[in-house]
Amino acid sequence: MKAVTVQPGVADSVRFEEVPEPDESTGSILVEAVAVGLCGTDVEIASGKYGWAPPGRDRLILGHESLGRVIDPGPERSLKPGDLVVGIVRRPDPVPCPNCAVGEWDMCRNGQYTERGIKEIDGFLSERWRTEPGYFTKMDPSLGLLGVLLEPTTVVGKAWELVGAMRARAFWEPRLVLVTGAGPIGMLAAMIGVQHGFDVHVLDRVTEGAKPQLVHDVGATYHSGAVTDVGFQPDVVIECTGVGSVIVDAIRSVGSGGVICLTGVGSGGPTSGLSPADVAKELVLQNNVILGSVNANRRHFYRAAEALAAADHAWLERLITRQVPPQDIAQALKHGPDDIKVVVDFGAS
Ligand SMILES: [Zn+2]
Repeated sequence: MKAVTVQPGVADSVRFEEVPEPDESTGSILVEAVAVGLCGTDVEIASGKYGWAPPGRDRLILGHESLGRVIDPGPERSLKPGDLVVGIVRRPDPVPCPNCAVGEWDMCRNGQYTERGIKEIDGFLSERWRTEPGYFTKMDPSLGLLGVLLEPTTVVGKAWELVGAMRARAFWEPRLVLVTGAGPIGMLAAMIGVQHGFDVHVLDRVTEGAKPQLVHDVGATYHSGAVTDVGFQPDVVIECTGVGSVIVDAIRSVGSGGVICLTGVGSGGPTSGLSPADVAKELVLQNNVILGSVNANRRHFYRAAEALAAADHAWLERLITRQVPPQDIAQALKHGPDDIKVVVDFGAS
């Protein structure tokens, strides 16, 4: 079969090439690829800055945002041939740490977890792949290709769950939500916020293109410019840019008792703005919380699938701005100005 492979640590090493069929040791459930979404992590791996090949190998099959159709469910009785499934990305560490031991591999404590298409396990950008019972989510058939949006939805689903956990601190009735960044993660965060009944605002740099209308059509309010200019103090900020100045402005702007959930990963940038002591003062005097959130476990996959199934499918369709065949992976990894979510389409849908 053919697959998109990469040599982690080596820039521009991505190839669409012949590889062996997925080994039965990688799972009893055999799946035909329908589509795989691409994100910044894939771009980073393709540029040699991130990623780990499986032990004893140089190359890794790329791709962690999967959608496939079951060919052979093996002994898994909840599946039948033709079902649409999404593979779970992370696997628990082998020790395991206490969190992995209870199925919270997204909260792994020792960093020895593995991740499909990212860290030491082949991903989903292959014509066929396998998964183990317990490491897939069965998708509502009405979603079709839109099931490829599940993995990014799990990321924001977990973020929302962590924000909800902050209710245990005190009496708290959050209403105003600011999402920074109108990429796929920001859009899906806004979608879930609206589903929860919040007054959701989304901020991005652009003033043109599809993003402002998409934000409006999901039931949220679009802003461009600075966080400090939105004209209100958010109760919750879901930060999806990883940009230092945006994070600093979020810390300045969030209301008393507010929560900032960081989901974006950036690095560097100007260090002017708030010093650590100033950050501490902002947090202490307003009882604010800043928390980080990454990855997702089985519960988040299950809930995100429900959120997607309940969403306006026509709106979700507009998030997928480009569908590219796997042989054109190099073009697919180049982010265009109008791209929201780019999807590699295996032509099986
Ligand atoms: Zn662990």
